[in-house]
Amino acid sequence: MNMCIFCKIINNEIPCTKVYEDDKILAFRDINPAAPVHVLIIPKKHITSVNEINEDNAEVVGHIFAIAAKLAKELGVDSNGYRVVTNVGTQGGQTVEHLHFHLLGGRNLGWPPG
Ligand code: 5GP
Ligand code: ZN
Repeated sequence: MNMCIFCKIINNEIPCTKVYEDDKILAFRDINPAAPVHVLIIPKKHITSVNEINEDNAEVVGHIFAIAAKLAKELGVDSNGYRVVTNVGTQGGQTVEHLHFHLLGGRNLGWPPG
C-alpha cells in the first residue's frame, strides 16, 4: 500500500480539518492556505497526478468537480468566483505526489499563475 502523506490523512494517521468525505473522495483544509478559502479535494485511491488519469480511473475526477461546485456554494465563493487547479510534476509545482485539486477563493486570484 502506498503511504504518501495524503494516504495517511485518508487513513486517519495524520489529522486534517475535513470539509467533505464519502467512500471515493476526501476534502480538507490546506495546512498552509494560499487564500481565505483553500480546500484540497483528493481521491481516496492513490493516483500520483494527472499523468496517471486514464479511462479506467477518470470517473472520480468528475465526482471531485461535482463536489467542488457543492463546496464552493457551501463556503460562499460560488458567486464571486474561485479556482479549481491541480499541479503536475516539478515544473507544475506539485509537492505532494497524490492527485489533489485545490479549491481556492475569497480573494482576487492572479492570472497567469507564477
Ligand atoms: P501541491 O504543491 O502539491 O500542488 O499542493 C500540496 C498542498 O498540500 C500544499 O498547498 C500544502 O500546503 C498542502 N499540504 C501539505 N502537507 C499537508 C498536510 O499534512 N495537511 C494539509 N491539510 N495540507 C498539506
Ligand atoms: Zn497517496
